[in-house]
Amino acid sequence: MVAATEAARLLTYQAARYIDRGKQSEIPKFCAMAKCLASDTAMRVTTDAVQVMGGYGYMKDFPVERMMRDAKLIQIYTGTNQIMRVVAGRSILAE
Ligand SMILES: Cc1cc2nc3c(=O)[nH]c(=O)nc-3n(C[C@H](O)[C@H](O)[C@H](O)COP(=O)(O)OP(=O)(O)OC[C@H]3O[C@@H](n4cnc5c(N)ncnc54)[C@H](O)[C@@H]3O)c2cc1C
Repeated sequence: MVAATEAARLLTYQAARYIDRGKQSEIPKFCAMAKCLASDTAMRVTTDAVQVMGGYGYMKDFPVERMMRDAKLIQIYTGTNQIMRVVAGRSILAE
């Protein structure tokens, strides 16, 4: 779970680096890939975290169930991950 989170973080930093450098050719592709990977990773990690905690993970008494719902939202808003794949895929195929 930590390794997956760190990998997603590194791709996000890479997208931020391209934005800082104004590298227009890479920005849409890397932003789309980072949003997609980071939110898919958040979904997987929080789902596993709920499972690790068993019944307590599912209950509202602990924050992990809210984190799992938040991760699901991140896959949907600011452009769904399906659309992020379309954006990244078009850039990659154009190369
Ligand atoms: C809590 C919350 C907060 C939000 N906040 C904001 C906000 O602040 N500002 C704002 O502008 N919007 C906001 N939204 C809206 C959000 O950005 C949209 O819900 C999101 O873009 C998805 O659009 P939709 O709900 O119309 O789904 P639809 O576009 O109807 O898509 C439904 C499903 O079909 C898939 N799909 C659609 N087209 C394709 C395609 N071409 N290829 C493959 N799959 C496809 C989608 O990925 C999705 O899984 C918010 C949404 C929520 C739930």
